[in-house]
Amino acid sequence: MLRRTKILATLGPATDKPGVLEGLFKAGIDVVRMNFSHGSAQEHINRTNLVRELSVKTGRRVGILADLQGPKIRIARFRDTKVFLQEGQDFALDINLDATAGDNTQVGITYEPLANEVKPGNRLLLDDGRIVLDVVSVKNMRVNCTVIVGGELSNNKGINLMGGGLSAAALTDKDKQDIKTIAIMDCDFVAISFPRCAEDLHEARRLLLAEGCHAGIVSKVERAEAIVPEVMDEIILASDAVMVARGDLGVEIGDANLPAVQKTLINRTRSLNRVAITATQMMESMIENPIPTRAEVFDVANAVYDGTDAVMLSAETASGKYPIKAVEAMHRICIEVEKQPKVRESGHRMDIQFERDDEAIAMSAMYMANHTKIKAIVALTESGATPLWMSRISSGIPIFAFSSEEKTLGKVTLYRGVFPVYFTHEAQDHAEVNREIVQELRKWNMAKEGDKFIFTKGDLTGVKGGTNALKVITVGQGLTP
Ligand code: PGA
Ligand code: MN
Repeated sequence: MLRRTKILATLGPATDKPGVLEGLFKAGIDVVRMNFSHGSAQEHINRTNLVRELSVKTGRRVGILADLQGPKIRIARFRDTKVFLQEGQDFALDINLDATAGDNTQVGITYEPLANEVKPGNRLLLDDGRIVLDVVSVKNMRVNCTVIVGGELSNNKGINLMGGGLSAAALTDKDKQDIKTIAIMDCDFVAISFPRCAEDLHEARRLLLAEGCHAGIVSKVERAEAIVPEVMDEIILASDAVMVARGDLGVEIGDANLPAVQKTLINRTRSLNRVAITATQMMESMIENPIPTRAEVFDVANAVYDGTDAVMLSAETASGKYPIKAVEAMHRICIEVEKQPKVRESGHRMDIQFERDDEAIAMSAMYMANHTKIKAIVALTESGATPLWMSRISSGIPIFAFSSEEKTLGKVTLYRGVFPVYFTHEAQDHAEVNREIVQELRKWNMAKEGDKFIFTKGDLTGVKGGTNALKVITVGQGLTP
């Protein structure tokens, strides 16, 4: 059985070890994430090249997503690398303090506006919420706090403001530099960290296009401001895909609010014809252990029930002890959930008027696939729009995106239930093209005698938005070569 939900795995030191990347391909990764918060440009370029080589070697196309660091606000460093903070003690964040002079009463900070953006009574969360500080007073660029939850605090840890509101622009100088590297790497997707509004994403797209890069834009929703309903829709519409970035988002809005936000965000994203990724701590315990906790099994399963396109692994694959086992675990969970009738049904868009014929054909194909005995759908596509529309509808029927456009094939790696197939044809005769499609499907063990397929295509190949036909084909009826 083909898995519909896509697995997005972050690469890092653990996947650089011999045989690991090959193991991840075998275990079924669909997209890799290059995390620009860590590692050098050269390391990312090298890993990208390896992924491309393996894609060719194995015939399994794996998409590439570059994730920009963004304006993560961080403390500076300590004289002795780390300190231990006691509950109830005073602790200050001081813009004027030397960047290496932190001790257990104060530490420097690299974000200049902090003193202007926080007020007494605000709560600051450090190191993904492990340390909690309440702001008592702000004087001369120094933010004086009381420690509410103490513990170990080490160099360069991140800071979030509970409730959001720290207004750093989403693209830093480092990000702008990294965009140049990403354009050279020719990634399929670029993730923007901490966008506040659609304009942050438009800017990223402009910068990428200026470098000749047509990567899809992934918005990481990780700021409280980004989930205000109007802003959420604006951000989704400015993106190709949306990531529920539960790590930072949970710190800003409180962990208890995450499940409801995840459901709303995935739902809105799919309704607006965009792609959803669920990220962070999905298999966290597998950084150290070969099997997931029951709670993690449920988390992955619930994201599939919520309709996510992809589930993401972070440190589990990038630096964990069991990167391959983490992918295998996700695979087996997704496959089981996808057998459930609930995730194959769709009540979606029953009451909508479609403006475009190609979208209406995509929807008709899904309606037919879900209500008759169809083995698979084949969308002959230039831009990938038809399989994207199709995959917004819940279904158990695989959608094969047949395209000669490398960029399109790279993008559909992230779409739930869509499988990229490189396809060109010389033939002009429709019956001959049909035969060539069936031959391709045989490679996926799909086309047995009597199997019925839906093909969607345009009259003119090579024209975007040209899908104007839906055909139903049964193997064996004049189609076996
Ligand atoms: P990160 O983003 O891993 O780059 O921080 C994801 C998240 O915040 O959940
Ligand atoms: Mn984040």
